Amino acid sequence: MPSSEIRESVADAPSGTAPARGASRGGRDGAAPGTGESPLARKRRARRIHRVLAERYPDAHCELDFSTPLELLVATVLSAQSTDRRVNAATPALFARYPSAQAYAGATRADLEELIRPTGFFRAKADTLVKLGDALVTRFGGEVPRRLAELVTLPGVGRKTANVVLGNAFGVPGIAVDTHVGRLSRRLGLSRHDDPVKVEADLAELFERRDWTMLSHRLIFHGRRTCHARRPACGACPVARWCPAFGVGETDPVAAARLVTTEGRR
Ligand code: SF4
Repeated sequence: MPSSEIRESVADAPSGTAPARGASRGGRDGAAPGTGESPLARKRRARRIHRVLAERYPDAHCELDFSTPLELLVATVLSAQSTDRRVNAATPALFARYPSAQAYAGATRADLEELIRPTGFFRAKADTLVKLGDALVTRFGGEVPRRLAELVTLPGVGRKTANVVLGNAFGVPGIAVDTHVGRLSRRLGLSRHDDPVKVEADLAELFERRDWTMLSHRLIFHGRRTCHARRPACGACPVARWCPAFGVGETDPVAAARLVTTEGRR
């Protein structure tokens, strides 16, 4: 598989039981197109949802382990079609062996592949990391650039990865639309789009720029712990009253509470 085919987002699984009374279930992921909600009402509802998620997940954060922008960039590349848990298990040895962009550019392919094998698609990812190191050395003096327009020119780096790096390594607000953010945006009726770039644009319209990074984390935490792709725990969801897709998952409070995970599926 060529490195260009390592996708930043994977498809959501369909979900599906009947909608709750009064809920308008429409498109993919249970989102509700055509509800007649005004832009202002949607913005108010969106911000209410965000406030409640902030209370529910006060410790929401990037779940990839890193200590430098380069480490986060590499970890995010490795997280494509993998889990943060698997990436975090592999990166301590990787970061120790490859501490700089120069090191990745000059890496021995077999050595690199062995270290990242547990993250999946390890040949394509090793190829990407060598090219990434080379591009950083050749075009950016070995440093990770701080601008989205520059980040997305790097091998294996799309908008999601660029926004993760900007938001978490550089403190520049960014909305990282991964599989969870996309799915929840649709279920919550904040976007009707499948295209992550369009979802990002819809969310950017609804939320203050300063909230973008934490919004991404809170949606991801909610997606991993409660609003699962296959069995969302609607009956135990703190934002259920503002969610047009309420009812796509378990609505019985006791049964739903059993579906909620405390650590999330990483
Ligand atoms: S778990 Fe919550 S956010 Fe997800 S579909 Fe159900 S009510 Fe909506």
